[in-house]
Amino acid sequence: MNRLLIVGTVAFDSIETPDTRVNKVLGGAATHISISASLFNINSAVISIVGGDFPYEYFKIFKKRNIDISELKIKKNGKTFYWIGKYAKNMNQRDTLKTEVNVLENFDPVVPENFTSPNVLVLGNLDPSVQLKVMSQIITPPKITILDTMNFWMDNAMENLKKIISKVDLICINDDEVKQLTGLNSLAEGARKILNMGPNYVIVKKGEYGSMLIDKLNTFECPAFPVKKVKDPTGAGDSFAGGLAGYLTTVNSSSFDDIKKAVMYGTATASFSVEGFGINGIEKINYNDIINRVDFINNLL
Ligand code: AMP
Repeated sequence: MNRLLIVGTVAFDSIETPDTRVNKVLGGAATHISISASLFNINSAVISIVGGDFPYEYFKIFKKRNIDISELKIKKNGKTFYWIGKYAKNMNQRDTLKTEVNVLENFDPVVPENFTSPNVLVLGNLDPSVQLKVMSQIITPPKITILDTMNFWMDNAMENLKKIISKVDLICINDDEVKQLTGLNSLAEGARKILNMGPNYVIVKKGEYGSMLIDKLNTFECPAFPVKKVKDPTGAGDSFAGGLAGYLTTVNSSSFDDIKKAVMYGTATASFSVEGFGINGIEKINYNDIINRVDFINNLL
């Protein structure tokens, strides 16, 4: 079975939407990515670290889905990464009220022995220095390495972020972050500038307006799935990456055509994620639910 390796935060999230507030639920980039990707019946492993405050039941959520968490470290006397986000009325705008890096500061990641040559590597959102350390332990280059990041790291670790961008095949980035990273207001121009920084492919995520995949020759615009009620957009980007990576792991490919299909799988997966708080939206679905929405999206093209 093909292998997918994921690094990213495993976190506590407190989320406030115009209707609801939840306190310290399970979140984090690696959490959303790995749970989404697990729907694709692949072998996956997560590298991250949590504190002694991380509840035992949360580990079971990963184990139940056959996600290898042998390198999800516990620092007993430390605190888990903690993020507080608040959404504006339209749910498109989000403010980060707090980011506590906690145990992720100075984290030394270790790639599990049987994942040193994965088919797909996802460098999910976390400190770019950790993403670089994971990449340096990979023995055989994966079919595709996918990078996700966030404005926080642009503000706090731009130099290392540029280093990792220069080494990956594909970057997933949202519209505001394209502007921040490149200083350009046009998404198409900004995405092309990012191609010149190293990656062969750029995916720009535009929330309810869908996403755009580009390489040096081609462009593909994918609409979003029309969700009836968005409850919580947290993790939409990560579950998009999880669906994208899950599909690419099954086909073991990095062609433009397969990434195009993968974008539809990512879009479908993300649409379930926003229908529930935290991981609730993706926790209760299966592969067939994703296929149904991929078919729907395909018919929109
Ligand atoms: P998304 O909504 O896809 O941007 O992802 C939100 C998730 O990313 C939440 O579950 C957070 O715990 C996590 N997160 C928030 N800020 C950061 C950060 N600076 N680095 C890594 N993960 C983060």
